[in-house]
Amino acid sequence: MSDSKRLKIAVQKKGRLSDDSIALLKAIGIKLQIRDRLLIAHSTNQPIDLLLVRDDDIPGLVMDGVVDMGFIGENELEEKMLERQASKRPAEFQTLRRLDYGGCRLSIAIPNEMKYTGIESLNGTKVATTYPYLLERYFTEQNIDASAVMLTGSVEVAPRAGVADAICDLVSTGATLEANGLREQEVIFESKAVLIQKAQPLSEDKQALINRLLPRIDGVMQAKESKYIMLHAPKAYLEQVKSLLPGAEDPTVLPLAGNEEAVAIHVVSAETLFWETMEKLKALGCSSILVMPIEKMMG
Ligand code: ATP
Ligand code: MG
Repeated sequence: MSDSKRLKIAVQKKGRLSDDSIALLKAIGIKLQIRDRLLIAHSTNQPIDLLLVRDDDIPGLVMDGVVDMGFIGENELEEKMLERQASKRPAEFQTLRRLDYGGCRLSIAIPNEMKYTGIESLNGTKVATTYPYLLERYFTEQNIDASAVMLTGSVEVAPRAGVADAICDLVSTGATLEANGLREQEVIFESKAVLIQKAQPLSEDKQALINRLLPRIDGVMQAKESKYIMLHAPKAYLEQVKSLLPGAEDPTVLPLAGNEEAVAIHVVSAETLFWETMEKLKALGCSSILVMPIEKMMG
């Protein structure tokens, strides 16, 4: 048994959410040594253990309180929640943060040759999916009389195989659908990765650790979107220059040694600086315009 004093976090072992989740944990200062094929990875600088599992298992591990936290796609989380509610098993959890990766949508797609005049064209059809609960909920909400056929893999070949009339599957670019002669028709769920915590109260130490980690996660996400902008600007055009800088109400304005005419401006911006704006700044006489990524940020 692993030490119950250590915070247990479930992460997808291998797949679309693994790298980004582990990169986020590392970015918030958790040192990890992940060895292939091991189910558990211990942090070397925090009382944290990672449980590396299939993403399908993560909602249940959190809802049963086997782990304290988990990184999971909302699609999988919502599906497992509906499944558990239907069989009256525990389905509680808290969502701590919606994250900035793992974006995809659950969509209904139909074969190119199928006639489609609107959602009512799905009446009487069989739709293959890995997400029968989400799909059935959608049919009920939309008042459609269709049935979900559960397939755990290769959903996109179901129509060709004669197993179903249409499919309901995760899409990000749509390339897989196209390659299989399918056309996306209805988006039924928009998903991103989330960080969840079990519903049962944690020890004070564990909760304190989580409460310290969450602002770091916010800092990492904010930093990814933000830029540090530096430039030299002629004093005479200071106001015009400021108005061109995105989200810069209060930039730092510093004197330049040996130059009475110009100042240095430093600003943290929530957006990047577009080439067009840089050209306008240049035209006002600005120079040494630098746009730099920010690694970390705090309040
Ligand atoms: P596992 O072996 O862990 O069960 P899996 O095959 O079920 O893996 P992945 O394909 O790695 O899962 O996808 C994991 C999650 O990544 C999805 O549930 C979804 O939340 C997210 N995701 C993001 N983009 C896509 C996409 N284009 N297709 C599928 N999933 C995506
Ligand atoms: Mg899975």
